[in-house]
Amino acid sequence: MDLFKDEDLLMLSGIQHIAFCERQWALIHVEQQWLENKLTVEGQFLHKKVDDPMEQDLRANTNTLRAVPLISYTLGLYGRADVVELTRSFKGDKKKSVFIDGRQGYWEMVPVEYKRGKPKSDERDEVQLCAQAMCLEEMYGIQIEIGFLYYGETRHRHEVEFSIQLRSLVCSFSKRMHELFDTGKTPPAVFMAHCRSCSLMDVCLPKASEGGTDVDQYLNEIFPRDYQ
Ligand code: SF4
Repeated sequence: MDLFKDEDLLMLSGIQHIAFCERQWALIHVEQQWLENKLTVEGQFLHKKVDDPMEQDLRANTNTLRAVPLISYTLGLYGRADVVELTRSFKGDKKKSVFIDGRQGYWEMVPVEYKRGKPKSDERDEVQLCAQAMCLEEMYGIQIEIGFLYYGETRHRHEVEFSIQLRSLVCSFSKRMHELFDTGKTPPAVFMAHCRSCSLMDVCLPKASEGGTDVDQYLNEIFPRDYQ
């Protein structure tokens, strides 16, 4: 299997964008346009609280790591996990647990991702969490069966099983991210109901650019070069 090189790695967090809309992913990660709307600002506020390294849980048989670096040369992704919970493994199963310097014994790893709002009707959050788990599996040579999504609005956490279907979605989305990145082309807009909650609605102009190729083309059409 071909592995990606460091210079080819893409941001893992982008997998939630491509699972929502290919065009949104390309606008953010290929064209690097980003408009903050209420949804993303609230999400960042929640992440600031989560990222506080002083919030340590030091119970005897569990421990919490925050802002954990992630990398997968198989998927070609890098990023950070909000939280990775460590639970002491009394069985010492080396396929499912890892020895960590400074912490006695073996520990099972469970990624936890914090989200604003409530559970979504699609699987973009589950896909992102599963991609984090697949990075940890590759980095530490272990198997991770479950993770959790915590939602700020409901203040509830949901268990996510890393099924074969979810893992194959991660593989196909990450493959597609690399294909799109390599072509450098932004897919055309398709106006759908989810566009109303999209943070890039004002940049994408989905109704105006539907069927077009990119925002630059749309602007060129309404503002000829001489007038820009
Ligand atoms: S407005 Fe709609 S088509 Fe445009 S990026 Fe957002 S979700 Fe995609």
